[in-house]
Amino acid sequence: MSRRGGCDNLQSWKERFVQLMEKHKPQDKWVLDSSTDLSATDLPSGWYKYEQSHLFARFECSYCSKKWKSIQVVIHFHMHLDKRRWSQSQGQVKMRIFRQKCQKCKNAKYEMPVFSEEAVEKLLQNLTLKILKKCYGESSKSNQFFKPVAEEEVEGPHDRRNCEACQEGMCEAVSLYVRMCQATQWEEKQKILGFLLVVLMIFLFFCAASLLACKLFLPFCSFNQCSWLQSFPVTNIIIKLSAGLNL
Ligand SMILES: [Zn+2]
Ligand SMILES: [Zn+2]
Repeated sequence: MSRRGGCDNLQSWKERFVQLMEKHKPQDKWVLDSSTDLSATDLPSGWYKYEQSHLFARFECSYCSKKWKSIQVVIHFHMHLDKRRWSQSQGQVKMRIFRQKCQKCKNAKYEMPVFSEEAVEKLLQNLTLKILKKCYGESSKSNQFFKPVAEEEVEGPHDRRNCEACQEGMCEAVSLYVRMCQATQWEEKQKILGFLLVVLMIFLFFCAASLLACKLFLPFCSFNQCSWLQSFPVTNIIIKLSAGLNL
């Protein structure tokens, strides 16, 4: 299988990306640059963020030559189109590929993942679709995006200690609250808030259901005076609320 992906081969990523953008927007000029210090929190206005995660890639330690595979590789893209009416519009993408370290070596350095040629093609096509949507307002369906594929079986859990994305709180493991604070775009915040709202609704439903159960199944125990229920802060609040509402 042909491979692309380490620092040496980023040139082929850049060339393929330019080809893809030229196919869709021949009148505009797009460039792709890689960076190792792209910040997820620092997004200038007029820029859009796009993340591809759960990507499969291979790694090799430059000290001991140990090889490993991962299905938790993350790439961040920041994209911007400088629209010009009378001259060629300029588009720019900054890309950060999160790296991983060898488990065996004590002073291992972060290694760049190596992706298969097929994986690079798919992730650049996904990036192109996202740019057409965000920067040109063109609609795209979620089924047009390629889903990441595990090309080989990966053994063991994700090694968070040696994953650059995990160390910087960019991996999936990071809590929803942290992600919401880091979210710079309203669309992203809305998704997380929606999820938290559903969790709150389920919680309130269970509170109401347990209140009803108390009323129905404990006819001989007035739950308003039940000291056991009052000992829990949540049920105590419910009791006080129901007393106020004359339930
Ligand atoms: Zn090593
Ligand atoms: Zn990770």
